[in-house]
Amino acid sequence: MSIQVLSDQLASQIAAGEVVERPSSVVKELVENAIDARAATINIDVREGGRKLVQVADDGEGIRAVDLELAFLRHATSKLQTAAELTAIRTLGFRGEALAAIAAVSQVTVVSRAAGETAGTRLVLDGGVKSSRDTVGAPQGTVIAVENLFFNTPARLKFLKSITTEKRLIDEFVTRYALAYPAIRFRLVHDNRITFQSSGNGSLRDVLVAVYGPETARQLLPINDRVTGRQGDTVIGAEDENPVTPSPAHPVTVSGFVGPPSLHWSNRSHITLFVNGRWIKDNSLTYAVIQAYHTLLPTGRYPLGILFITLPPLEVDVNVHPAKTEVRFRPRNAVFGAVQRAVRHTLVADAPVRSMGAWAAGGDQTSPGWTGQLNHSAFARRGESSQDQLELHWPAPAAETNIAGPETAVLPTTNLGGDKLPIMRIVGQVGASYIITEGPDGLFLIDQHAAHERILYEQFMAARERDTIVSQRLVAGTAVHLPPPQAALLEGNLERLAAIGFQIEPFGPNAFMVRAVPAILAQLDPARAVRAVVEDLEQGDIPLQEEIEAKIILRVCKSAAVKAGQTLSLPEMEAMVRQLESCQSPHTCPHGRPTLIHLSAAQLAREFGRM
Ligand code: ADP
Ligand code: MG
Repeated sequence: MSIQVLSDQLASQIAAGEVVERPSSVVKELVENAIDARAATINIDVREGGRKLVQVADDGEGIRAVDLELAFLRHATSKLQTAAELTAIRTLGFRGEALAAIAAVSQVTVVSRAAGETAGTRLVLDGGVKSSRDTVGAPQGTVIAVENLFFNTPARLKFLKSITTEKRLIDEFVTRYALAYPAIRFRLVHDNRITFQSSGNGSLRDVLVAVYGPETARQLLPINDRVTGRQGDTVIGAEDENPVTPSPAHPVTVSGFVGPPSLHWSNRSHITLFVNGRWIKDNSLTYAVIQAYHTLLPTGRYPLGILFITLPPLEVDVNVHPAKTEVRFRPRNAVFGAVQRAVRHTLVADAPVRSMGAWAAGGDQTSPGWTGQLNHSAFARRGESSQDQLELHWPAPAAETNIAGPETAVLPTTNLGGDKLPIMRIVGQVGASYIITEGPDGLFLIDQHAAHERILYEQFMAARERDTIVSQRLVAGTAVHLPPPQAALLEGNLERLAAIGFQIEPFGPNAFMVRAVPAILAQLDPARAVRAVVEDLEQGDIPLQEEIEAKIILRVCKSAAVKAGQTLSLPEMEAMVRQLESCQSPHTCPHGRPTLIHLSAAQLAREFGRM
């Protein structure tokens, strides 16, 4: 076939695909145009989730009659003239693509009257081709009606989600922009029913109430916008080793609202980011917000945040993709750090959190939320003495535990007395690391990681004894590459690993394919789990053959156990303590560290001078 230049219409349809993915993209582009035109009121009318109609009416500057056809040409824009301007975009639009793209895949009617003109002009286009133009009476501003989206691209039409999904995406989008522009009055109508409106009085609080309802809106915490990227402290968490370079050249400010830790959702969609007034999607900044809640939220739950990030337009590149929802930052780390700090500071300043003391300064690694005002030395003393004289003379727990009893488990660790634990009541969790419980005589502090290791170890050993270790097949298999000495070590132990649930096959020189892992590791990265096992085997003297398996099992349990720093829900703590109660050797982890510290009623009384 000879090479040919695509027809204009075909080229437009292809290009349209990147800008107009679905009805909500039409809403986005039209609303952004209205905002760029300095509208005070934007009315959005939608029928059938936008498949039938998306109409956006604004009272902005309008499009001059002489420009109306031009506006629908590709790469035609009033917002950009020189290449230099491209490096410092201040408007939401600049590529001059949206109207052309939308028109190429729908039937468009536009009525616009620019300031200073006496009448409006109406233009009708069908698949991007002009079908009529006339003069009509109209108020200043622009109304664009987009009908029958994708009528001429049936393949795209097929990919649209249900009407409910499209409606939801449009709702999300319009409410986001209403939050970012509280001075603009928005009204959204689905199938003749008003589903959202904002007053346009300039108060973000009022829009928050309109979006989230008064109950939630009342709880949101305003971000303290004194916090800027100019401060030079370190970023918490992910980029610990990466101090934010303090630089007056990169002023980043963050404002908006975040939810208190008590408000959380099952996904990230409630984290909304704006950069210089533009809604963006950015996984790394979303993560910065989540990271700021580290240890404050239950696992698998996500916070609410509406963040407005401002920085000089020169520092942001919005010309990454036609949809303009991705941006690149020049001071990447500074932005990440500013977001995380702003959120963290806001949370710390919130009253109930402040009582945690020097928390924001960052405690030790194992218990990030906990530096505590309790007397550590007193605890240490208790800890030591209680190890020697744990006097646990309460009745053994009821026999109705549902954990498969590790009747035959061989436990190589020293068993401190072998006493079972009493039935305990959960009081709570401190520092996302320790569970506090109350027993018949005083209180217990349980190290959640050590305790869980113990539980998993005994369950695992019991299963091993009965030959019922459950293995989890990986859907795709994971390749692991190891340095030659480690590869040899792993190769020599494949059978042993198979006995406890790892199915690993050699896969080329120094490479292995992990096909299955013990079920308790199902949630973890299989490659990392295998590496950790090999590293353990490498350490110390060559272990005796019989010891190798024990060593691997220890590592498996350690990897699978909850870590310090993980917030546990009450049912999770309940389950853990019940299982610990039913362990044969509940007092130590399989490495011999204590799992719990007991403070007897007598000790407490003594400590408080009651005796
Ligand atoms: P861009 O927004 O990138 O410039 P568009 O294709 O979205 O490209 O719009 C093309 C041009 O049409 C804009 O530059 C602007 O001059 C004009 N325009 C579009 N929508 C409106 C509107 N609602 N009010 C005033 N002018 C508009
Ligand atoms: Mg535009």
